[in-house]
Amino acid sequence: MKLLDSIQMLKGIGPKKAKLLQKLGIVTLYDLLTYYPRSYEDQSTVTPIAELFVGERATIAGNIMNVVEKQAGRRRMTILTALVGDGTGFAQVTWFNQPFLKTKLKAGRRLFVTGKAAYAYGGRGQMEIAQVQSYALLDEGEDGAEHLGIFPVYGATDGLNQAFFRKAVRTLLDAIDDGDGDGLALSEVLPQGIAERYHLLPRSAAFRAIHFPKDAEELKDARRRLAFEELYLIQCGLLLLKKQARVAQKGVRHLACSTLSRQVFSHLPFRLTDDQASVWQDICRDMESDVPMRRLVQGDVGSGKTVLALLALVKTVENGFQGALMVPTEILARQHYETFTRQLANTGIRVGFLSGHITAKEKRELYERITSHEVDIVIGTHALLQEGVQFASLGLVVTDEQHRFGVAQRSTLEKQGTERLPDVLVMTATPIPRTMTLTVYGDLDVSQVRHLPPGRKPVRTFVRTSDRRPLIYKYVRTQAEAGRQSYVVCPLVEQSDEEDLPSAEEVYDELRYGILRGIPCGLVHGRMKDAEKEAVMQAFYENRIRVLVSTTVIEVGVNVPNATTLVVEHADRFGLAQLHQLRGRIGRGDLASYCILVSDSRTETARERLSILAATQDGFQLAEEDLRLRGPGQFFGARQHGLPDLKIADVLKDTDILLEARQAAQETLGRQENLSFVRPILASHYKEQFEHITDV
Ligand code: ADP
Ligand code: MG
Repeated sequence: MKLLDSIQMLKGIGPKKAKLLQKLGIVTLYDLLTYYPRSYEDQSTVTPIAELFVGERATIAGNIMNVVEKQAGRRRMTILTALVGDGTGFAQVTWFNQPFLKTKLKAGRRLFVTGKAAYAYGGRGQMEIAQVQSYALLDEGEDGAEHLGIFPVYGATDGLNQAFFRKAVRTLLDAIDDGDGDGLALSEVLPQGIAERYHLLPRSAAFRAIHFPKDAEELKDARRRLAFEELYLIQCGLLLLKKQARVAQKGVRHLACSTLSRQVFSHLPFRLTDDQASVWQDICRDMESDVPMRRLVQGDVGSGKTVLALLALVKTVENGFQGALMVPTEILARQHYETFTRQLANTGIRVGFLSGHITAKEKRELYERITSHEVDIVIGTHALLQEGVQFASLGLVVTDEQHRFGVAQRSTLEKQGTERLPDVLVMTATPIPRTMTLTVYGDLDVSQVRHLPPGRKPVRTFVRTSDRRPLIYKYVRTQAEAGRQSYVVCPLVEQSDEEDLPSAEEVYDELRYGILRGIPCGLVHGRMKDAEKEAVMQAFYENRIRVLVSTTVIEVGVNVPNATTLVVEHADRFGLAQLHQLRGRIGRGDLASYCILVSDSRTETARERLSILAATQDGFQLAEEDLRLRGPGQFFGARQHGLPDLKIADVLKDTDILLEARQAAQETLGRQENLSFVRPILASHYKEQFEHITDV
């Protein structure tokens, strides 16, 4: 039996159970071994009945004094109540609808039972174990020691209960080699020396203890060991990616900026801020060396990242290469395309636009122009990753709003460099806390644009209930009459049966036939045809539309400095980071701007979130709050980062383990024998993510 064998190799698991397990992603024995408990039940201490606290969960041990059976309800449900005594008091324990227990619950038998303590009949003195969580009936001569301890609670599913999981995992753990070589081999994944140096439990002990810990201490050690190895392997992968890019293949080498760059530079409508200038220096330094650039530019919404992309792309073109700018939405791609064409007019630089929705003919023509180098800069969506896109000479890849693309996607384009790897610049408005930067962007160097361009008036943010909507929209109306523009964002496109939320379509009709009658309004959402979407956005850019009702399609990057008001309907429906992104649509010029969050939600967290947003403009602080309130999964959205899902490590809380694991990974990379040890492990654990790592 090997760890990667089918789960059916395990005693007691046939095709039927295997099918249920598969739904939980458990296919191999190893999957089961790493199906870590979701939580634990602490049954390590027995509480005397006299010391039970009402409302608290506890384990009692005693003898059954008598058993009463009742039938209740129309269905004649069996109710069994045992009176248990332990010398300090008596407690009633009740089981519903388990008639088979009748033959087992016998006076005189010893019983362990865990549940919530309550007063029987609502009176003092007589206790009751309500909501029995688990119980064990002891046989003659048993002391019951194995029923005491900390027990795992697994994410179960219909047909597979806790008892099943506990038994299956125990059988598996028992099959694991105890050192005599005849069991299931559990190979080490950490190179020699690391476990000792970082005081980690042996692997087999950690697996045993994560499922069946002796005590809280052992559980903590087990978690640390397993989280360490998980983070360590990912760090090795990321560092190898980085090293591979640096060592195996030279990068495109750019020369210092000359005429074309200077021309574009001098035509910018503003001067770079100090932060922008310093990031631009980082970028130039990277681009001018033949080590491939892999740089992440972090900067809050509106901090002015686009111009950095523009300058970098011009630089690559000036050096005779092509550049690609990849963005996550069609609207944003279109907007960048317009900005670039405008700013590059009279430079001779040819810009192309690619999205999944241009006609087949246009696409074919563009592909040809890309391959024959008749276009210098291509701006587009994921469509840039399609096979037909073959650059003649790719010098730079920029991805904007990076958290929406994965590591793997990034490298698809990078591989297009022919002899030399193209430089890579990644831009994100998500101010990621340090732990996250290291896990998610461990293979990148980081530059930050910390301050917004001068002259920005902070956006003032208000939280209002929906009974104020007439006033809010009256304000939107006066703004429109004064030539200013507004966004109105709704959580849904159209009316849904399940949820009673304002849809974009409804709000659009309500406004244009109602309070905003006579004001040019527009509607844009993800389900519209691209041509329609584009026409509406164009009209909004040109101020032919004053009020744009939309879903979150405008969330990223859209830049209309004349827009001064943002109304978010049902604001509690959105995440903090998302609301902050949305708010980034206004306050882009020097006009005073207002963000109004409409919400009737009364839940504590919803109110807390919205008030945090009203209180701060600092994206970094908001990101941390969002993480705290919603957890990392929600924050990034499932799998958006393209890295392996973490099974046990917690990107928020395990900073210390992460830093140690990163250090260990760095040490590993410096030692050939350790590297040779880790590489195959990495390949087998994380094939998808790190398979493009070649020998370095
Ligand atoms: P983001 O970082 O969110 O992508 P943008 O690049 O869209 O931000 O820039 C936001 C706005 O700030 C744009 O209107 C842009 O022209 C303007 N901007 C960028 N840099 C400067 C600067 N140094 N001085 C003044 N305005 C600037
Ligand atoms: Mg941007």
